[in-house]
Amino acid sequence: MRSRGRLYVVGIGPGNLELLTLRAKRVLEESEFVLGHKTYIDRIRSIVKGKIIESGMGEEVERVKKAVKLAESHIVSLVSGGDPSIYGMASLVAEYVYSLGLNVDFEVVPGVTALCSASPLLGCAVSGDHAVVSLSDLLTPWEVVEKRLRKALEGDFVVVIYNPSSRRRVNKLLKAMEIVLEVRGNVPIGVVKNASRSGEEIFITYPRYIIENPDKIDMHTILFVSNSETVILDGKMITPRGYSRRYRW
Ligand code: SAH
Repeated sequence: MRSRGRLYVVGIGPGNLELLTLRAKRVLEESEFVLGHKTYIDRIRSIVKGKIIESGMGEEVERVKKAVKLAESHIVSLVSGGDPSIYGMASLVAEYVYSLGLNVDFEVVPGVTALCSASPLLGCAVSGDHAVVSLSDLLTPWEVVEKRLRKALEGDFVVVIYNPSSRRRVNKLLKAMEIVLEVRGNVPIGVVKNASRSGEEIFITYPRYIIENPDKIDMHTILFVSNSETVILDGKMITPRGYSRRYRW
C-alpha cells in the first residue's frame, strides 16, 4: 500500500530564487505535485521535478480542495508568494482542513515577505513597531480596512500597505492617501514595486503626489508610510530604533 501523503504550503518569497528558504527549495524538489497560480509557478518552475498544476486568480478554494485530495496519498506543494501566512494560502488551508476535521498532514513552509524584502531596499523603513494593512476589499469590507488604517496611523506605527491599488480599485488608494494626509500629514511614503524581481522600482514620495499620480502605484507595489520618527538620510528612508537616543556614535 502507498504511504500517506503530505501537504506543504510553501512560501516562495518575493521572486528572486536566492530568497527561497532551503526548506522551501527542498520540499519543492521532493513534491510529486506542485499547485499554484501561474505567476508563482513560473518563478519556481526550474526547480520542480513533479507534475505542475496551474490555476488562475479566484480559483483558490478549488486549488486547496484539489491539493488536499492529492495529499491523501502524495507529497504535494501548494505555492504562495512571499509568506503563506501573510495574505496567502495558509489560513485557507487551515480553515478548510480543521473545520471539516480532515485527516491531512500539512506544514506551512515560511517565506520572505514583500515587507521584509522591500523595507531594506528603501533603507530601513521598518525597524520596530509597525502595522500592516491591505487595501483589498475583496475579502474584507472597506469600512473595516479604512478603520484599521486610521487606527494604525493614529497609533504612530509605520504603516505598511499591501494591495494598494488595481485597475478596479484606484479610488480606494485615493481615499487611503486622504486618510494619511488627514491623520499624519504630507509625510514621506516609501514605494517599492516588484521588490527583488524583474521590474524593480524604488522611490520615496508623498501622499499628495500619489493622489495626483495614482498610476505610479499598481498591484505589484508595497507602500511604507512614515511614522513620527522616520527620517530621510542620504536619500534613504530610515525609521531609527532609538540607538542614537541611547548611545553616541
Ligand atoms: N504573501 C505575500 C503577500 C501577497 S498579497 C507576502 O508575504 O508578501 C499581494 C500583495 O503583496 C501585492 O499587491 C503587493 O502589495 C505585495 N507584494 C507581493 N510581492 C511583492 C513584491 N515583490 N514587491 C512589492 N510588493 C509585493
